[in-house]
Amino acid sequence: MIAGVDIGGTKIAVGLVDETGRVLSRAETPTLADRGYAEAIDRTTEILRQVSDKAGQKITGIGIGSTGPVDPITGEIGNVNHFPKWQGRNPVHDLESRFKVSVAMENDADAAALGEAGWGAGKNKTRLMYVTVGTGIGAALVIDGQIYRGVAHSHPEIGHHVIDPSGPPCLCGFRGCWESLAAGPAMANWIKSAAPSDYPHLRDLTGKRVCELARSGDPIARKAVERETYYLGLGLANLVTLFTPDAIVLSGSVMKSADLFLDGIRNRIAESCAFVPWQKVEISLASLGEDANLIGAARVWYCRFAGGHPNA
Ligand SMILES: [Zn+2]
Repeated sequence: MIAGVDIGGTKIAVGLVDETGRVLSRAETPTLADRGYAEAIDRTTEILRQVSDKAGQKITGIGIGSTGPVDPITGEIGNVNHFPKWQGRNPVHDLESRFKVSVAMENDADAAALGEAGWGAGKNKTRLMYVTVGTGIGAALVIDGQIYRGVAHSHPEIGHHVIDPSGPPCLCGFRGCWESLAAGPAMANWIKSAAPSDYPHLRDLTGKRVCELARSGDPIARKAVERETYYLGLGLANLVTLFTPDAIVLSGSVMKSADLFLDGIRNRIAESCAFVPWQKVEISLASLGEDANLIGAARVWYCRFAGGHPNA
């Protein structure tokens, strides 16, 4: 029975996942990064033991998906925005020594991509691109069941490819990255900058709320959704032209409102990708649901230690 550990900026989720991708038992704890790495790994160990006891199953391996950057081969945490003081710490070694089982780790987008490739919407796809659109945009490429890695085991930051050099500034230091124009907060940010000061919905405006307002016919929210569709479509059209994958699987909180965006995205791809067989690139939604990151984390172990192929 494999345990998945999903390390995020706000919470750490753990669960026992069987060989078909089913979550048998789960628990979570707030990350509370400021209390330090050692305390967080102690709490993670404790809830892992709890889920194991609850399911009456012994943990035989552990897969980790972590917000990045992380080194998937050495297991070291890099300079992560959410927990800068954890740099150089190694959850792979630490969980190995506590549970005496093999442990593997990937960046969380790579982990979720492996989950969808093995047990979800990307099953049986030779070249799978996974894109998650939420607070940011993460993407991963799985080829023949293996994660595509850059130099020094790096995770390419596809969310930071530039769509409009005169666009808004991004955390990475550039302007007009795909993430700064098309992640969830971009919709609310645009309304805050473009709506008249008496627009009644400015307080506590989120991407989710913008989608609700657009559905109720609010013209400014509809414009924000139209703009979101344009930029999402542009970035996805770039991926179709650059990689021509068999499928692009979309996930993340913004994709909970996918029906507002999908037609426009498909139109943009049809208009923009004339030199590649875009008609053959399937655009679909992720199928693993709320536990996708957890299931993906467990899948990391299966891919590293049970043959590597998504159908292994
Ligand atoms: Zn950026």
